[in-house]
Amino acid sequence: MSRVLRRRQFLIQGGKAGLALGLGVKSLTAAARVPVGAIGYQQSPLPYAYAALEPAIDALTMEIHYLRHAAAYTKNMADACTAEKVDTTALPLEMLLQKISQYSTKLRNNAGGHYNHELFWQTLRAPKEKNSPSGVLLQKMVQDFGSFEQFVTQFTDLAKGRFGSGWAWLIQSPSGKLALSSTPNQDNPLMDLAETKGYPLLGLDLWEHAYYLKYQNKRADYIQNWFAVVHWDTVAERLQKN
Ligand code: MN
Repeated sequence: MSRVLRRRQFLIQGGKAGLALGLGVKSLTAAARVPVGAIGYQQSPLPYAYAALEPAIDALTMEIHYLRHAAAYTKNMADACTAEKVDTTALPLEMLLQKISQYSTKLRNNAGGHYNHELFWQTLRAPKEKNSPSGVLLQKMVQDFGSFEQFVTQFTDLAKGRFGSGWAWLIQSPSGKLALSSTPNQDNPLMDLAETKGYPLLGLDLWEHAYYLKYQNKRADYIQNWFAVVHWDTVAERLQKN
């Protein structure tokens, strides 16, 4: 397992290092295992109104996306967890995703769909002019992509090039460096079967249900406008300080 993922797993398992190292996950209390703000198995309330991301993302798309598409992934994940005897009180979602190849395609698709959408909502907020990262995140972007502008160009090319449905990601790779990846369907870079593994900091939903009502076939316009609503503070908070 990568250094970033190991560190994240350590954080998930609780702050008491001796306890986490000496005992299995099941012996820890739920409160000690799951950090505040971690994505769990429930659908969280949307942290803003459906219209909050306009004009980049319209209210009707947000409402259908959250209430129908994302809610369905959450429900179908729960059904699959029951059928496959996943103890969701003992196994944090990020750890399930890290061994998702051991489970069914239904669980892979829906646990991925649930996690990806929870992350998507968290990393967006009302549009801001000249929206860009700062601090350590910006420094790392300069180190690993050359500049923020270069990151935007590379991410945009990757997102435009994803054939069919999937996601484009900014990840922290096992070495600690920032990197880009793209996954098909509802896969994500936490999954053991992902081609490029790492910790997802930011993901862009490239399914047509995320943009078709407003943008139809113009995926490039959707990608460009989405950058105005990225919540860079949340992205920076996800960065692991190795
Ligand atoms: Mn979606």
